[in-house]
Amino acid sequence: MPVPFVDMRAELVALAGGDFVRRELTSECAIVLHYWGCPPLEQGVHEAAMATFHHHFVTNGWRSIGYHYHVSWPDGAVAYVGDVFTARANVSGLNHLAIGICVEGDLKGDIPDAVIEGVRCAIGSIHAEVVRRMGDKGQFVYGLPIYGHKEFALPGHGTVCPGPGGMRIVEALRVC
Ligand SMILES: [Zn+2]
Repeated sequence: MPVPFVDMRAELVALAGGDFVRRELTSECAIVLHYWGCPPLEQGVHEAAMATFHHHFVTNGWRSIGYHYHVSWPDGAVAYVGDVFTARANVSGLNHLAIGICVEGDLKGDIPDAVIEGVRCAIGSIHAEVVRRMGDKGQFVYGLPIYGHKEFALPGHGTVCPGPGGMRIVEALRVC
């Protein structure tokens, strides 16, 4: 069954009155998995992505939502929330390299297959977007590694994100 997918980029750029700055993508980049670290809303992908947007833009005062993709819990629906050719705010000091996918919730207990499929769908969207916009020069995107945030963080910026459940998602996707 296809994973539900919504492109919220234009809506969020309009709400924020702009966006993060553009960046180039290279083979040095990485796909980085995050989680909320708190219980899921379970109100659908749009509400959950909007909650993250408000937290980043209003509460934190950031330029917009810090991630590129949001995957909702427990249905695995995907929202494309920030253009992959922008350097957003999800890995301190490495935002120029990170393509951030955030999974809603605290990822406690079993991870639904739908959520893993949602993350796989987001990665597929990254691949398609980069190749569509860069042509043959974008082929490197298929070789980009996927890390949990805590694996990719710079020294001094340690984090438990994306938690043991999030790391199980990363491991599941690394082997295929
Ligand atoms: Zn994180």
